[in-house]
Amino acid sequence: MTAGPTSAADVVDAAAAAADLAALDAVVPTCRACPRLVAWRELVGVEKRAAFRDETYWARPVPGFGDADAAVLVVGLAPAAHGANRTGRMFTGDRSGDFLFAAMHRTGFASQATSTSRDDGLTLTDIRVTAPVRCAPPANDPTPEERRTCGPYLGRELSLIRPRVVVVLGGFGWQALLTTLAEQGWAVPRPRPKFGHGAELVLSGPGGAELVLLGCFHVSQQNTFTGRLTPDMLDAILLRAREVRSAR
Ligand code: SF4
Repeated sequence: MTAGPTSAADVVDAAAAAADLAALDAVVPTCRACPRLVAWRELVGVEKRAAFRDETYWARPVPGFGDADAAVLVVGLAPAAHGANRTGRMFTGDRSGDFLFAAMHRTGFASQATSTSRDDGLTLTDIRVTAPVRCAPPANDPTPEERRTCGPYLGRELSLIRPRVVVVLGGFGWQALLTTLAEQGWAVPRPRPKFGHGAELVLSGPGGAELVLLGCFHVSQQNTFTGRLTPDMLDAILLRAREVRSAR
C-alpha cells in the first residue's frame, strides 16, 4: 500500500484530490493522520476479541459502503473496534450492523438481510453508509481534533454523491455531523438543532446543495435490546427517507 496522509493538511489535500468516489474510497484506508487512532485501531487488531482470534483484522480506516449514486446516506459516528475495524466495511460484523442491514433489506435498500464480511455479496441500492470519523476510537469517543481532521473525507463524499437525505444515527453522530458540515461549508443554524428520533432538518450547502437530516436512535445494542429502538421504528425512518428523497 502506498503511503497515505499523515497530517490534517494531507487529509485536506487527499480528499480534494479524489476525483471520484472510487478514488476517495481508495485513499481513506491509507490514512495515518491521527496518531492516537492509528495506535488504537492497530492494537485492537493485534489483541483481538476472543471470538475472532483466528481472524485478520482490517485495522485501518474504513471507507463508506454502498451505492455510488445513493440519494440516502446513513451516518453513524465511527467504526466499531470489533465490527467495521475487523471486517473493513461500515456496520459489518456486529449486532448494530445486523439490526441496520435487516431493516435496509425489509425496506428494499439492501440485497440481503445480513452483512458479515466484505465479500458476502451484499449490495445496497440508493443508500450508502459512512461516518464522520473513519477509525475506531477508544471508548467510541473521538476527540474534537480527530473528528475535525477526518472531516474532509465526509465533505468530499457529500460533494461527490450529493445525497438528498442523511439518516443520522444517534446524538453523538448528530453533533459530529453538524460540526463537520459547518466546517465543510454548510449553513448550520445556531444554536444547533437538537437531536431526536424523527427530527428533521433541512440544510443548504456548497454549490446550492440541499440536504435533509433525519434523526434516528442509534442501532447500538443498548437501544435495540431495551426496545428504545425497535425494528418498526427503524423501518419507519428508512421509509421516511425514501419519501423525502422522492419528494425533492
Ligand atoms: S480518523 Fe480519519 S483522519 Fe484520522 S487517521 Fe483515521 S481516517 Fe485518518
